[in-house]
Amino acid sequence: MMSPEVSIVIPVFDETACLDELLERCLRAGKACGHKFELILVDDGSTDGSDKKISRAAQLHEPVVAVLLNRNYGQHAAVFAGLSQAGGEIIVTLDADLQNPPEEIPRLVAEIEKGNDVVGTVRMHRQDSFFRRSASALVNKAVRQATGVMMHDYGCMLRAYRRFIVDAMLQCSERSTFIPILANSFARHTSEISVKHDSRNQGTSKYSIFKLVSLQFDLLTSMSTFPLRMLSIVGLVVAGGGIGFGLLIVVMRIVYGAAWAADGVFSLFAAMFILIGSQFIALGLLGEYIGRIYNDVRARPRYFIREVLGKNKEVDNITPACPINK
Ligand code: UDP
Ligand code: MG
Repeated sequence: MMSPEVSIVIPVFDETACLDELLERCLRAGKACGHKFELILVDDGSTDGSDKKISRAAQLHEPVVAVLLNRNYGQHAAVFAGLSQAGGEIIVTLDADLQNPPEEIPRLVAEIEKGNDVVGTVRMHRQDSFFRRSASALVNKAVRQATGVMMHDYGCMLRAYRRFIVDAMLQCSERSTFIPILANSFARHTSEISVKHDSRNQGTSKYSIFKLVSLQFDLLTSMSTFPLRMLSIVGLVVAGGGIGFGLLIVVMRIVYGAAWAADGVFSLFAAMFILIGSQFIALGLLGEYIGRIYNDVRARPRYFIREVLGKNKEVDNITPACPINK
C-alpha cells in the first residue's frame, strides 16, 4: 500500500459484537471519501478475542492495519498508538461501538479540505443516559470557557485532524491527555458539523463510573493552569464567606447576648465544615496534579505496541521491519 491520504483510527476494547459491522461500514465509508485510505484498528488489550478478529481483518482487507497493544491502556492512549502509526494527510478518529456513524467520515474529510485544521462534531439527539448528558454539558461549558476554543461537544471522538496537528500531538509527552483539547491547542482553523448519534446496540459501555471520573480529571488538568486559578478563586470566596459569617455571629452575639451565641454553636460547626471541606477539595485537586507529575516524571511509555499487522502490505517481505514513528 502506498502512503494513504486518509487514516481512520479506531480504538477497540472488547468489541467483538460490533467489529464485523464496523469493519464493513468503515471500509465503505473510506471508499466513499475518494482518497486512498487506511483503517487502523487499535486493540486496547481486549480479552474477548477482538484482537484476533482485528488481526484477521488486517490479513483479509488491504486498507486495514492492526495495532495490538499488550494490555489495556484506555481509550485515549489507544488512539495515540493508532495516531503514531497513521500515515495519512488527514486523520479521522471514531469509536468502535457505532454510536458515531462511520458514514459521516467523508463529510469530515471534506470539511478538512475546506481549510480547517481540526473538525469536531456535535451529537444530535444524543443517545446516552440523562446523567451522562448533563455531566457532559457541564464539562463542555467549562472547557469552552477555559480554552476559549468554541466547540460544543468535546466528548465526541468522531473528529478529523490535519497531519501537522497529529504530529504536534505526538510530540507531547504528557501521559494523561484528552485528545480533543490537545488538538485544539494547536489548531488555528477549527469547525464543527453535526452528526447523528446512535444508541449502543451491541456490547456495553467500556466506561465504568470510576473510569469516567478519571477521564474528567484528565480533561480538567489538561487545561493547564486554569483549574489552579479556579482553586484560588473558590478559596477566596469560601474564606470571604467565612469571615462574613464570623462577623455576623459577633454582631448577633452583641445584639442578642451570649445565649444566642451558645445556640449558634451549630452554625459555627457549619462554617468549620465548609472550610475543612474546601481544603479537602483543594488538596484533592493538588493531588491530581502531583499524581500526573509523578506519572510524567516516571516517563513510562504511554502505551506499548505488541505488534503491527497489515502495514506496507506489498513491501512486507522485502523490508524486514517498518520504521515506527519515522
Ligand atoms: N475503549 C478503549 N479502551 C478502554 C475503553 C474504551 O479502547 O479502556 C474504546 C471502546 O472500544 C470504544 C471507545 O473507546 O471504541 C469508546 O468507548 P465506549 O463506547 O465504551 O464509551 P462511551 O461511548 O460509553 O463513552
Ligand atoms: Mg460509546
